[in-house]
Amino acid sequence: MGPQAQNRQPTAYLLRLAAIEADKTYVTPIAPVMPVSRAVVRFIEAGNDALCGHCQLPVKFVARTRGRQVIANVYTDGRWTRVEHYHEACYEEAGDPFGSPRA
Ligand SMILES: [Zn+2]
Repeated sequence: MGPQAQNRQPTAYLLRLAAIEADKTYVTPIAPVMPVSRAVVRFIEAGNDALCGHCQLPVKFVARTRGRQVIANVYTDGRWTRVEHYHEACYEEAGDPFGSPRA
């Protein structure tokens, strides 16, 4: 669903969604809500050369340690803007800036 489809959603529909959400302690995975930033935890692959969004050092693959990184898809006002990489520990230290990372 692109930004065009987002803009066509009637306000009443969004309000209804908000009401449903307020009544439940969870959000159903099929709810077509505005995309927000999210993060996942992944093993660092060989050849990864991204810089950590917190300490600015490379998120480097190191043989034998199976280091993990947090990869965040960052959305601004419902639009995807960028991907950020973090050392797993740095992401925690930064206070989960894009939500709790999913496995
Ligand atoms: Zn870092």
